[in-house]
Amino acid sequence: MTGHAFRTVNARGAAPMIFICDHASNRVPPEIGDLGIDAAEMQRHIAWDIGAAAVTEILAQRFDAPALFATVSRLVIDCNRNWGDPGLMPEISDGTPIPANRGIGAAEQKRRWDVYHRAYHAAIDAAIEAKLEAGQRPTIVAIHSMTPAMKGVLRPWQIAMCAHEERGLNDRVLAELRRNAGIVVGDNEPYNLDPREDFSIPHHAMRRGLPHLQVEFRQDEIDSPAGQARWAAIFATAIQAALAESR
Ligand SMILES: [Zn+2]
Repeated sequence: MTGHAFRTVNARGAAPMIFICDHASNRVPPEIGDLGIDAAEMQRHIAWDIGAAAVTEILAQRFDAPALFATVSRLVIDCNRNWGDPGLMPEISDGTPIPANRGIGAAEQKRRWDVYHRAYHAAIDAAIEAKLEAGQRPTIVAIHSMTPAMKGVLRPWQIAMCAHEERGLNDRVLAELRRNAGIVVGDNEPYNLDPREDFSIPHHAMRRGLPHLQVEFRQDEIDSPAGQARWAAIFATAIQAALAESR
């Protein structure tokens, strides 16, 4: 199913899981026109999570679970930020000024929130409601990717789990990931899950008391189909083992 601000894969997937990919796309909707930055910048991590959508699709098929993807660049609106967050419609991102977001008016801010952010999150809400009505308690899994270097500092972690206070499932997945010899796994590095910054998992999973995971794959590991398949398999194996333990 395709919407203006989101798309859904495997909507009828039977597993008690829902995958979400907030930064799946670098698309700028035609009504926005142009953000005023080079086309090359729109290919960078500032515009989207490189490789994350492909990994999410593989996971949705493997688990037979629905997956929802925002289809608007996070430079238009960051679907993992709340209303009022300065990063919601960033004026500058990793050193790149975003001219179209400078001095953006209240009406356009509200329009972007309603048309893109709310529509995407309403679709996630509906998917969760459908699972609850079917008697399932879905695990919400948020898939992100991170740039290999930030502000000149290289990141050693190939995959990183992001957690807040509820660490049960997160820690079981971490332990399973660490069984893979030679893989560098981040635990709340470089990012944690912060309800003051992150929107999606706090809003959809923590608020409802649903089990959840948030993961970051390093972009250079998932920038090819082979890498996407490899890392989706590594993560899926860890999730399956972690969920089996918790039953
Ligand atoms: Zn992301």
